[in-house]
Amino acid sequence: MSERKVALVTGATRGIGKEIALELAKNGFDIAVNYRGTQDENLKKEIESNNVRCEFVEADVSNFEQCENMIKEAIEKYGRIDVLVNNAGITKDGLIMRMKKEDFEAVIDVNLVGTFNVTRNVIPYMIKQKSGRIINVSSVVGVAGNAGQTNYSASKAGVIGFTKSLAKEVASRNILVNAIAPGFIDTDMTKVLSDTVKEGINAQIPLKRMGTPKEVAKVVKFLASEDSSYVTGQVINIDGGMVM
Ligand code: NDP
Repeated sequence: MSERKVALVTGATRGIGKEIALELAKNGFDIAVNYRGTQDENLKKEIESNNVRCEFVEADVSNFEQCENMIKEAIEKYGRIDVLVNNAGITKDGLIMRMKKEDFEAVIDVNLVGTFNVTRNVIPYMIKQKSGRIINVSSVVGVAGNAGQTNYSASKAGVIGFTKSLAKEVASRNILVNAIAPGFIDTDMTKVLSDTVKEGINAQIPLKRMGTPKEVAKVVKFLASEDSSYVTGQVINIDGGMVM
């Protein structure tokens, strides 16, 4: 059994997930890094440089059985999971007239069903521990909508409904469930946008710039900490004022 608190972060090999894993490591959590594909030895070293443990646990979050095995593996390695961050996500943008059914389903399967798949397998352990924190990564697009992202915004709005329902369901077990809704954050996901599109988006943000993965990770750190012990069922926008 790990002496430190343990955080499992999905999709933690890049972007926002990686920064969340590093921020929680810096704050004394042992980290279970969910990945699909190849492990990143450099990330392991970076996490371990904070004098905490780092273990990689593989699963495609859209696959329930893989998630079941991943959680069993994490429990075998650490004996507990105190914080779950459902971060793994994808986009497959397109206007509805051109969107293929497979592209709609793929985004729902990773972003929404994936959140269920991992949470469903972690919850029994948190209930037994009588404590836990679940932080789901939604998006401002799940709150306000966005042309060309019907699949993505439906998945992220679904994550918000999931968060609020679960928060009500498990509050009596001392498990707090919240969502964050990042705006326009500088990662691989947004690198694909053209400079013109980026400039257009920045113009609509009161702070007039993209956010950084670190700025998102700091809010997750708060939601994982004792400082947020009376916060549950909430959606916290991290968007430079884009949606208010
Ligand atoms: P990136 O594309 O940079 O990283 C996505 C991460 O998710 C990668 O580690 C990827 O792994 C992993 N992943 C994708 N699909 C799966 C899967 N099926 N199983 C396991 N892991 C998977 O994205 P961001 O860091 O930008 O986004 C992280 C989260 O934040 C997402 O949920 C996204 O929707 C959300 N978000 C991002 C915003 C932004 O502006 N960037 C704004 C609002 C929300 P791999 O390396 O194997 O592909």
